[in-house]
Amino acid sequence: MRSKLIVGNWKMNGSRAANAALLEGIAAGIDGVQSAIAVCVPAPYLQQCEDTLKGSTIAWGAQDVSAYEGGAYTGEVCAKMLCDFACRYVIVGHSERRAYHGESSELVAKKALAAMKEGLTPIVCVGETLEQREAGQTFDVVGAQLGAVLAQLPPAAVEKIVVAYEPVWAIGTGKTATPEMAQEVHARLRAQLQARAGEAADSVAILYGGSMKPDNARELLARPDIDGGLIGGAALKAQDFLAIIHAAE
Ligand code: 13P
Repeated sequence: MRSKLIVGNWKMNGSRAANAALLEGIAAGIDGVQSAIAVCVPAPYLQQCEDTLKGSTIAWGAQDVSAYEGGAYTGEVCAKMLCDFACRYVIVGHSERRAYHGESSELVAKKALAAMKEGLTPIVCVGETLEQREAGQTFDVVGAQLGAVLAQLPPAAVEKIVVAYEPVWAIGTGKTATPEMAQEVHARLRAQLQARAGEAADSVAILYGGSMKPDNARELLARPDIDGGLIGGAALKAQDFLAIIHAAE
């Protein structure tokens, strides 16, 4: 049985004061929780996470990583630096990076690899646009996005990644994939992982992301291949994030 993983993606939100209140609020509400919990924060706040969360059961991570190991890449942050702040996770290939920063699946694969080389767990995001879904291309799109990463990994490394299915049309829109729609895609992604890594794929967490909220989380998280959530807007309020964490129990 896979345990659940609930990850908050803060995106480009936060301030020292707001983060302190949010992290304190989350930490105060997770006694006895079985699921793994993490927050992926803007890089300047990683130190604050380390200071605040060290010794707690909440892990932290970043929202992007460079494909390079270091050197003359102005503005980039490499995996070693994330490890310097005791990150466990890093999101790669979020649709906002694919759309606004032109990230290709090949670059996303390089980033995942760079993260894993340093012992970080990449949360590999895949997802189709509304246009692609309506054209019946969902499985082709997410399959190609995941396939680009899997092609770079030896089968034994596949169990070390986390996958997040985030339909682009559901992100920040209030529109959620129905549990059936999400489960269908998650099952396909699981089959793809199995084809590459065999039984080891059974332990890979496949998260759902896209307008996951307290009122729809329980139903989504009850599906057999939905192993957790990657939560945007609702991760910015302790009360909402906690409600989702408790819905996963
Ligand atoms: P929302 O939960 O705000 O829709 O964002 C989802 C997301 O993009 C998480 O990575």
